[in-house]
Amino acid sequence: CGIVAYVGERECAGILVDGLRKLEYRGYDSAGLALHTGRGVEIVRAVGKLVNLDNALAKTPLAGKTGIGHTRWATHGRPNEVNAHPHVAGKVAVVHNGIIENHGILRQELEAKKIRFSSDTDTEIVAHLIQEAMSEGAPSLEEAVRKALRRVKGAYAIAVVSGDAPDDIIVAKDSSPLVLGVGKGEMLAASDIPALLEHTREVIFLEDGEMALLRKTGPVISKIDGTPVTRAAKHIEWSA
Ligand code: GLU
Repeated sequence: CGIVAYVGERECAGILVDGLRKLEYRGYDSAGLALHTGRGVEIVRAVGKLVNLDNALAKTPLAGKTGIGHTRWATHGRPNEVNAHPHVAGKVAVVHNGIIENHGILRQELEAKKIRFSSDTDTEIVAHLIQEAMSEGAPSLEEAVRKALRRVKGAYAIAVVSGDAPDDIIVAKDSSPLVLGVGKGEMLAASDIPALLEHTREVIFLEDGEMALLRKTGPVISKIDGTPVTRAAKHIEWSA
């Protein structure tokens, strides 16, 4: 299972799929992308190998310079297209690796508010919590994610985009890996370094309980509780 994110000046659908390919060794049963296409956030998902995602993208191309990608190893809900990530709630799309431990109680609470779920995953809860925080007036996508994550217990690495924030990606992690790649006029994030190497050698490891706002100009890192974090990028020597 893996996560890749890109924001910058280049068309990113191919960059995201190539990145996911570098993470294939982690294992997966389905895959998907969400991109800002100029018509909001659009998603394409496919069960099985990445070649199936390639074929789905050939039929439904996604053009855009901000996006997130995912390979799923199902833990909650069968490996089918509806359960494949990204998961969408309103304008928000989320990819997630890990397990949301308190998904049952959160789902009950959201369903009691008449929120309708379209998948069996624990992940979809995170999308709805973020969307709810946005509609309750969170000042930014970053703050909406912060508010949502304060309610979530478990292991996660997530990447989030929203139609309301076309230049932003929010990433966060607790007990699942996530590394940022600082490029020239572009920012990437991934579950592991091999997905970044083609683009940059300047990396920043996020620590547990941290999140980052990614823009093409660079990252703004903070703790999920709101405390700012200052961490310089490290240059890595690595032969791919
Ligand atoms: N728990 C999530 C799901 O089953 C994420 C699995 C993963 O790490 O890929 O959809």
